[in-house]
Amino acid sequence: MKWDQRLASRMASLAPSRAVTEILKLAERPDIISFSGGLPDPAVFLTERIRECSDRIMSREMAAALNYGPNPGYTPLREWVASHMKQIEGVDSTVEDVLVTSGGLEALHLVALALLDPGDTVLVGAPTYLAALHVFRAHQTRIVSVPVDHQGLDPEALESILSKLVGQGVHPRLIYVIPSFQNPSGVTLPLSRRERLLEICRKADLPIVEDHAYAALRYRGDDLPALKAIDPDRVIFLHTFSKIFGPGVRLGWICADSGLISNLGLCKLGTDQCPNTFTQRLVLECARDGIIEAQVDRSVALYSRKLRVILGELEKRLPPSVTWTRPEGGFYTWLELPQGFDTPALLERALEDEKVAFVAGPPFFADNSGERFLRLCFSFLAEELIPEGVERLGRVISSTAQGRKPGHSKQA
Ligand code: PMP
Repeated sequence: MKWDQRLASRMASLAPSRAVTEILKLAERPDIISFSGGLPDPAVFLTERIRECSDRIMSREMAAALNYGPNPGYTPLREWVASHMKQIEGVDSTVEDVLVTSGGLEALHLVALALLDPGDTVLVGAPTYLAALHVFRAHQTRIVSVPVDHQGLDPEALESILSKLVGQGVHPRLIYVIPSFQNPSGVTLPLSRRERLLEICRKADLPIVEDHAYAALRYRGDDLPALKAIDPDRVIFLHTFSKIFGPGVRLGWICADSGLISNLGLCKLGTDQCPNTFTQRLVLECARDGIIEAQVDRSVALYSRKLRVILGELEKRLPPSVTWTRPEGGFYTWLELPQGFDTPALLERALEDEKVAFVAGPPFFADNSGERFLRLCFSFLAEELIPEGVERLGRVISSTAQGRKPGHSKQA
């Protein structure tokens, strides 16, 4: 069979993601110092306590944990989520407003299934989370980008883009935003921008999909309210256990209007029917045991140290023509290189000549621009390897700027 000729039309738009999977595979090589994949450091996992929770579930409720469960999620976990929404996020919600999902990514896919038709227009940041672009492309939507600067999505730019679109008779269906410690830039929307964003969306009658993935991981500065806490009705709130517990459990949630949640559950009947029954019970047991809170504390302590180290090293080792973001939390910092740089080509040289990996900018932009940008993830790499990794990166950038190849260097 010639499968290439039988692919659905949506597959053509997914091509940019293929390069990313190749890059991530490469970056897993043990001889490479990798700032690429956005993974938690396994040192934060309280493995022994988690094993005890897992043993308790298996001895107490193994039959239920191995069976199908309710479509919107395990009710006691939904209750835990509703109370977390109240206590931590300041959002009043009930179990009916909560759908447990297979990670934050499925949450976004379900929102797209329920709300977007092919050809619909969606708004995203430039740059934004590359897997979100993948989801919107898979749903054959038209993606319109709004500039993101050092304070996140620019509300004034959004307002002028919206008025231009409306002038053309185009009414976007939603805007996708990561207000805190954005992937890939690490930047955070200050309160004034959150309020302005909500005001503009209210005026334009535009729903907001708020991705809260990293918000619990703040290393300095004051906590900010979620958009959902300011305007609960307009915001579809997505969260994940991936950064506050562990991505392997593949669990997240949506908190939204109960009528919408019921439609999202209907969509879920066609993805996995119900979330993972065993890991829902495991996560709840761990939450009740205080493990989630303890892991968040450990993450904040460890990643804030790594952030300090990487920012110090960037200052020391990169040419002055390179700038970067100084995040207050999350996993990433985002570098801007001078005119003329092409980070996909730089990555090839970095891998080959210096054995250092990052993610080049273009996959984070809907139009595949962003050749002068690159993302560094500082959460996963061992702290003691960060200086060497940044030194290698500095060498490859400097030698590329000077138009000559860098020399060979030590192995990781
Ligand atoms: N949103 C953002 C911004 C992310 O960076 C991630 C993970 N990289 C997710 C959502 C979802 O992750 P998961 O599917 O593991 O919950």
